[in-house]
Amino acid sequence: MRIRKLKLTGFKSFVDPAELVIEKGLTGIVGPNGCGKSNLLEAIRWVMGEASAKSLRGGGMEDVIFAGTTARPARDFAEVSILLDQLDGRDAEVVRRIERGAGSAYRIDGRDVRQKDVALLFADAATGAHSPALVSQGRIGAIIAAKPVDRRAMLEEAAGIAGLHVRRRDAELK
Ligand code: ATP
Ligand code: MG
Repeated sequence: MRIRKLKLTGFKSFVDPAELVIEKGLTGIVGPNGCGKSNLLEAIRWVMGEASAKSLRGGGMEDVIFAGTTARPARDFAEVSILLDQLDGRDAEVVRRIERGAGSAYRIDGRDVRQKDVALLFADAATGAHSPALVSQGRIGAIIAAKPVDRRAMLEEAAGIAGLHVRRRDAELK
């Protein structure tokens, strides 16, 4: 699975509709501090179903909606779409939209789906909002500074065995 295109409207600093075509090979995004580079990575995690506002540097999920500036009024919704080049060659579009006071809604190829369906689509392709392939800013420093026990937890998550510990604890309690 490859991300071919990312579209944003009203997401964080991307108030006007923006479209990024991601070509094959390595893509670099450069720009001055605060121009929105990290917001783009967060948009990818968000459309994949990220449920934690804190990991998107917000207090609540509605904080992803453009909050307004002195020159522009706030928006009342945010929408992110990713176009995926699937393994079977067929393209699929995943869309997440949030409206103030109404929560999030998801669509796959124009069909309304549950958050769970989106999570499954990405899990089957061994990726998703919590994939270790998405490394947030400051994360490398956090790994270097972590206590050994916390670093082990990160390695276990990367190795895909974190779920086993949850199940073991569950079994021990029974
Ligand atoms: P750096 O190089 O410092 O890492 P960056 O390019 O990664 O910067 P981001 O962190 O992606 O920048 O963008 C930060 C900008 O996004 C800030 O100017 C912040 O005000 C703006 N921003 C974040 N959330 C919103 C929002 N909900 N509405 C409007 N602007 C927002
Ligand atoms: Mg950044």
